[in-house]
Amino acid sequence: MNTRQVDVAVIGAGSAGMSAFRAASKHTDNVVLIEGGEFGTTCARVGCMPSKLLIAAAEAAHAVAEGPHFGVFSENTTIDGAAVMDRVRSERERSVKVGYVLAATGRAPNVDDLGLEQTSLVLDARGVPVFDPHTTQIGDSHVFLAGDVNNHRPLLHEASDEGRIAGDNAGRFPHVLSGTRRSPLAIVFTDPQIAMVGDSFRDLSGQDIAIGSVCFEDQGRSRVMRRNKGLLRVYADPDTRRFLGAEMIAPGAEHLGHLLAWAHQGGFTIDKMLDMPFYHPVVEEGLRTALRDARAELRKRPQFARAA
Ligand SMILES: Cc1cc2nc3c(=O)[nH]c(=O)nc-3n(C[C@H](O)[C@H](O)[C@H](O)COP(=O)(O)OP(=O)(O)OC[C@H]3O[C@@H](n4cnc5c(N)ncnc54)[C@H](O)[C@@H]3O)c2cc1C
Repeated sequence: MNTRQVDVAVIGAGSAGMSAFRAASKHTDNVVLIEGGEFGTTCARVGCMPSKLLIAAAEAAHAVAEGPHFGVFSENTTIDGAAVMDRVRSERERSVKVGYVLAATGRAPNVDDLGLEQTSLVLDARGVPVFDPHTTQIGDSHVFLAGDVNNHRPLLHEASDEGRIAGDNAGRFPHVLSGTRRSPLAIVFTDPQIAMVGDSFRDLSGQDIAIGSVCFEDQGRSRVMRRNKGLLRVYADPDTRRFLGAEMIAPGAEHLGHLLAWAHQGGFTIDKMLDMPFYHPVVEEGLRTALRDARAELRKRPQFARAA
């Protein structure tokens, strides 16, 4: 076995690993990227994009099936599975590129064969090292954990951020810095879609919060599109009136989720969010209803009476 001395070894050439490699390379040329499986990130090979290509085909088929409800009829509609998969393959090929850190992975952390139990790293019940999400550092060691492997927020943009933080800290070790983490945003591409922003109801349990909600059944634009299914809830802090988080199963939740994540990261209050423009007729008017509901809840609180 050859032994090679390097400044930084990145394990796993996925989204987190590639990002870590780039960040570490700014500190030293002596970096290696070790990949144990296929080249190409999970996101590009089988994850984010390929799954959305299949969903896009299903949505097209659903739109055709929905046609008669709008007075639109088409005859002899068929789904050509081979053509669907051809498009998935060709689009996928367009996006698969090969362009002191530990960035192994998968949906289930793939750390079993790394021999971590033979190190002094502190492991959790599942054998995954305990790490700091702001620095990605494992304890005070020179090992950093980024991407799905740490089970913190198993999402593409989080993996890239964590990889960048991990690579930078591995390169600058022992002068480890906290990196910028964004407001939590998670989307599930179901129909209707699901989105979670900021703190969840579960995160906030035991805390006094004001809740505003809207049901999409009677939401104007959603009814027009026959997509009037879902519920959205926003959470606010009664003392500061700040928006704390939201959870929804809603039409266009991917877009509502982004609006809300930006408001969350900007530290907006419910009042400031209601000062923003809302066009008519749009699904976002449903969000405005939930925000107004939250504001009505805040007004009932003793804190509001004191401030007034
Ligand atoms: C079907 C599906 C759909 C998804 N859709 C979305 C989405 O819409 N939006 C979103 O944000 N996220 C989505 N994700 C999640 C997203 O793909 C991941 O969060 C992201 O790819 C994680 O990047 P990573 O670098 O941690 O892991 P990966 O990209 O999986 O890279 C890890 C690499 O490490 C290698 N490796 C593992 N163990 C070892 C080892 N011991 N030694 C050497 N190499 C090793 C692997 O072979 C792999 O190449 C989806 C995932 C799946 C599976």
